[in-house]
Amino acid sequence: MASQVINEKLPRLLTELPGPKARQIIESDRRYISPSYTRPYPLVAESAAGAIVEDIDGNRFLDFNAGIAVCSTGHCHPNVVRAIQKQAARLIHMSGTDFYYEQMPQLARQLESLMPGGESWRCFFGNSGTEAIEAAMKLARYATGRWQFIAFHSAFHGRTMGSLSLTSSKPVQRKGFGPLIPGVTHVPFGDTSHLEDVVFRTTVDPSEVAAIVVEPIQGEGGYIIPPPDFLPQLEKIARKHGILLVADEIQCGMGRTGKMFAFEHFDFHPDIVAIAKGIASGMPLGVTMARAEIMTWEPGAHASTFGGNPVCLAAALETVRLLEEKYVANSAKLGEYLRAKLERLKERQPAIIDVRGRGLMIGIELASGELRDAILNECFRRGLLILGAGRSTIRLSPPLMIDEEQADFAVDTISEAIAERR
Ligand code: PLP
Repeated sequence: MASQVINEKLPRLLTELPGPKARQIIESDRRYISPSYTRPYPLVAESAAGAIVEDIDGNRFLDFNAGIAVCSTGHCHPNVVRAIQKQAARLIHMSGTDFYYEQMPQLARQLESLMPGGESWRCFFGNSGTEAIEAAMKLARYATGRWQFIAFHSAFHGRTMGSLSLTSSKPVQRKGFGPLIPGVTHVPFGDTSHLEDVVFRTTVDPSEVAAIVVEPIQGEGGYIIPPPDFLPQLEKIARKHGILLVADEIQCGMGRTGKMFAFEHFDFHPDIVAIAKGIASGMPLGVTMARAEIMTWEPGAHASTFGGNPVCLAAALETVRLLEEKYVANSAKLGEYLRAKLERLKERQPAIIDVRGRGLMIGIELASGELRDAILNECFRRGLLILGAGRSTIRLSPPLMIDEEQADFAVDTISEAIAERR
């Protein structure tokens, strides 16, 4: 069986799962920690390197989730660790809201150079994805003087009050927290006709819409790729009505889809781009990038004490360098390899309804949510860490440094798990 192969790149299971130490920690977690977290299986992580995570009992797992699409360069990449250590020994915090340090413009310049089009961009730094979206929403209102937003069904943009008002991937994420902010209208993802023919004709005057906020490829909603003309069409509508376009690249950006930004797969030119997750290999950093002529708010209009902390920026600078050097290309190459293998598995395995993705952002749609949840658990028992998205999709979002042997192991394990559970 694939799960019995032991070497440094593949799993090694030593105890029953969860092991004895893991059980103790889970018990203590249940007593002290917010029950709002969703843990699909009992992994207690202790250390990690590359795509391997070791639990507290010494079991090793192959991580095809990367801390929810975060550890883009792999866990604890030695260059990133060195950059963090070096920066931590010099300057941990100063607060970029009130003082200057070189890493802020350095990273902003590097990010501007990644943007297609050669235009001028500015960055606002926060600590998370949801903060990147909050800043995008505030900036869009500020720059346009308008108050409404268009977002999409199945979208996920975060869990603070503004971003939560845009989020619509599961009712449990919103239930009990209303009223959310007014002025958000959700429309179907992948089709602009409802927006134009219904919303703009019956309920919302487009002249009051500050921004359309969209994930170029939906993440939590189920790894959904829109038809090729959807985003260009959206851009036409936005330009016609003076509405800003916000691309939420928090999950699909930073090389995840085999290009630096997912919107580059489409003829789409956002005005504001929200980035987080994979940008700093696990250090907390959110970035709201906007075309320079849009980000002109006055001093004091928006800020964050910790946002753009020098240690996080040092991690991001090295992460971006590694992504450009090799990992975006590896994401494209291994993504093709993995998807082709999964397509072949789909042909033999009727429980797989669909395989879709770009680069190393791959969704495997199964026949039901129950089966999907069972497969997540079954894979864990075999040493593979994966998570779900949407109602019945397995999402694969491994570190962008995986190789073919690891991709083979993942596909074999998923195949065995489905065969066992069906
Ligand atoms: N936007 C997208 C597309 C996401 O996938 C997420 C998190 O999963 C967020 C925003 C929110 O990011 P965070 O959890 O860092 O606040």
